[in-house]
Formats: sequence, structure tokens, C-alpha cells
Amino acid sequence: MNTLNYKPTIGLEVHVQVKTVSKLFCGCSTEFGAEPNHNICAVCTGQPGVLPVMNKKAVEFTIRTGLALGCSISEHSVFARKQYFYPDLPKNYQVSQYELPLCIKGSVTLPSTGKRIGITRVHLEEDAGKLLHAIGARELEYSLVDLNRTGIGLMEIVSEPDITSADEAVEYLTTLKSILRYIDVSDCDMEKGTLRCDANISIAKPGDELGTKVEIKNMNSFKSLHTALLYEIVRQNETLSSGGKIIQETRLWDTDINETKSMRSKEFAHDYRYFPEPDLVPFKPSREWVTEIKTSLPELPLARKSRFVKEYGLNDYDAGVLTAEKALADYFEETVTSCVKLGLNNNDAAKPVTNWITTDLLGYLNTNKKDISLSPVTAVNLAGLIKLLTDGTISGKIAKTVFTEMCNTGGKPEDIVKSKGLVQISDESAILKLVIEAINENPKAVAEFKAGKERAVFAIVGAVMKKSQGKANPAVVNKLIKENI
Ligand SMILES: [Zn+2]
Repeated sequence: MNTLNYKPTIGLEVHVQVKTVSKLFCGCSTEFGAEPNHNICAVCTGQPGVLPVMNKKAVEFTIRTGLALGCSISEHSVFARKQYFYPDLPKNYQVSQYELPLCIKGSVTLPSTGKRIGITRVHLEEDAGKLLHAIGARELEYSLVDLNRTGIGLMEIVSEPDITSADEAVEYLTTLKSILRYIDVSDCDMEKGTLRCDANISIAKPGDELGTKVEIKNMNSFKSLHTALLYEIVRQNETLSSGGKIIQETRLWDTDINETKSMRSKEFAHDYRYFPEPDLVPFKPSREWVTEIKTSLPELPLARKSRFVKEYGLNDYDAGVLTAEKALADYFEETVTSCVKLGLNNNDAAKPVTNWITTDLLGYLNTNKKDISLSPVTAVNLAGLIKLLTDGTISGKIAKTVFTEMCNTGGKPEDIVKSKGLVQISDESAILKLVIEAINENPKAVAEFKAGKERAVFAIVGAVMKKSQGKANPAVVNKLIKENI
């Protein structure tokens, strides 16, 4: 079936929980996993006569996000009531922004292609609660509401419809997440719901006007974003190709059956009867404050990646891996600096540091589901290991053993080498004794080597390494075998 005559146009709405300790308009805690209805008060449960007080830190984080995404920060910003009734929304309206959001017009650059995805706006709003549906005997079928999440600050980051494939959507979200974590405004943990994503998607033949758009909700992982978009692209193509029509509606992604399902026909903005929130004054962030926030921004991932390529001579791939998370990039630079302090030069250090981090350390951390911040191997200790290896104190094989021990105990490489007697043997007379033994014990390999089979030497090298418990310096071993065979 020729289904893909039509090309997709996709825009993403990303909801990100701001990393504040208290909610947007009250002092209640934002702690994840608390007992239901433990973190609530009269303000966030919408009781009559209470007044919201804006959380300044949440506004600061939103401005910080806007600046990192190249947005302009509004001089005048207004909060609005978005009216709708839903059981987990105690006030029957959500405080959000409609006209005059805090940040407008920015962009995210995709690392793989350099394509720029426009950002329409970044605004601040409050989260709703959560319904828990009880399942049991008929008389026990009821729903419970947990308002712990009600009133927690969310940033909504709305992209332009510049995304044209499911792959691009995932890359956009990955890049955005990396930026938000760099600037430390959110944990962006999809499992804890601190990063959520809805997509608007329409399809049309190239050159035609945009088609009718469908909103997909409830994508709570990168994988479900990808599969839901692929599913929807095919569904819409099949509908149009067979003469059907796309209805403007909201669809839910169902991870159990891997399909989108119709949820409701799409409401329009006027259905929400937005009006300015009378209990909050219009907001005018001072230019000094905005400048101050801008000055405090760290180097962002893309800039750091190109600096790593230039400054340390890394390839694009390694630089991308090392700069995806700020903490990992910091760890890399700290290790290189420590190597330099131990006498290595910058370029000689960068290559082994990259290899140890990207293969051994990340391998260990991934297997043990640990974050780099919980690495038992400190940057200083990793540099110490690399120094022992480059100055010939230990062999490459021993270094792997020492590294494993460092992961298990968090110990210093010098201490481990000393206590386990792992120092490499480079003394020729000590090695010569083992070489002579190995030659005498392996007449077949010796004969083959003499008959011109160069590879036969490996059997003798192996025998010497075994006798020395891996501690003989391989270069010396090779030299002595060839001299004595
Ligand atoms: Zn509260």
C-alpha cells in the first residue's frame, strides 16, 4: 500500500515542572511520592477567600529558560484564568498565561543537522491534580483525587510547527531536555512526570496548505513520542489516501495497544473563556533582573560540544556524548585538568580520558543505574589511574583490574596497585628468567616461529604474561623473546 503520499508537520508542546521546592502560589512542598493529599493547603485546593502569591523562583526559572532558548522576555506579562471543569482541578480554572506570555520567539538548534526549530512561547502555569480510579466490586467502583500536584509550577514550551518527522521530534525533545538540565531549571524526569509532551500533527502533500491538525496527548517517554507519531503519520495518510477526512480532535496514545485513540473533539481557545487573573498583578520583570539572569547562564550544550572538538581534539560523536549532561562534561574537564596537574599535556590526556569515560565508566554507571554524580571513581582518581598507565607503572590489562576495584571500593588507584602488588615488572633480568622458562616449555611455538610463522610468538608472550600474573611489561617481553629464541 502506498500510504505516505502526505508529509507531516509537527509542533510540540512540552510541559516541564520547574525545580522549585514550593508550589506556584503557596508554600506547599513539591516533593515527589508523598502520601496523597499530604502537600496541600487552602490556596492550592482552591478554597474561597484565599489569595495566590507568585513564586518568584518559578518566574526566574521561566525567564532563564526563555533566555537559554534565545527568546525575548516580555516587559509586560499577564496571568489568566483558563476556565474548565475537571474533577482534579479544584478551582474549576487553571492559572496560566494566554496573551502576553513571559517569553516569546526563540529556537532550538538540532545538533545532527543544524536545523533550527522555532519556539513560539514559553509560559508559566499551574499543574492539576491526579485522579486514581479504584477497581473492585461494583459498589467499590469510585475515583479518588490526589491534589499533591495541584498548583505545582509548570513551564509550557511551545514549538513552531517546524518538525517534519518522528525522528526530528525526538531529537528536538532530547536537545531541549539537555538544555533545561544544563541551566538547572528542571529535572526533566519523564518517569516522575516532570517532563511531559503533547504533539500537534497534520499532514499535507508537499506544497499544499497545512492539513487538519490532531493533538496527541499522554506521551510519557521518548519511545512513545516516536511510536505515537509514526502511528499517527500512517493513520492520517491511510485516511486521506482512501478518501476519508481528518477530524480536528485530541487523541490519546495508548501504550498497551500502541495506537492513538480519539479522546474528544478539539476545543478552541474561546471555549476556555480566558480572562486576566484578578488576584495577580500584571508582571513586569525589570531589565536589570533579566540581565542578571542572562549573565548567570552557563555555557550551553551545543557551544560546549564545539569547544570540546576544538580544545581537546575530540571527534563529533565523543564530544556529543560527553556534553549531553552538564555533570558529565564537568567530570571530563576535571579529569583532564587533574591529568595536566600530574604532568600530562592537554592533548595527551584528552584521548585516554575520553576512552575511559565513554567505555569503562559509562558502562559501569549504566549497568548499575547510577548517575555520574554518584560515580565511585572520582575525576582525580581516574586521572591517577591514567597517569600510572602512561608512565608504565601498570599495564593496560592491570589498569582494567584496578579500575574495577576502584568502582567496587571507591579507592585510590595508587593504593590499590600497592596493596595488591600490581606494579608492572619492567626489570629485564626478572623478565628474562620467565622468558627462558616459557621458551623451554613451548618447543612447538618456537619451531613454528623459526619456520617463519610470526604469529607463533603470541603463545610465548601469553605464557610469560601468565607466569608474571599480567605484570610483565609487554614491550620488554616481546623484545626479550626475539633476542633469546
Ligand atoms: Zn498549597
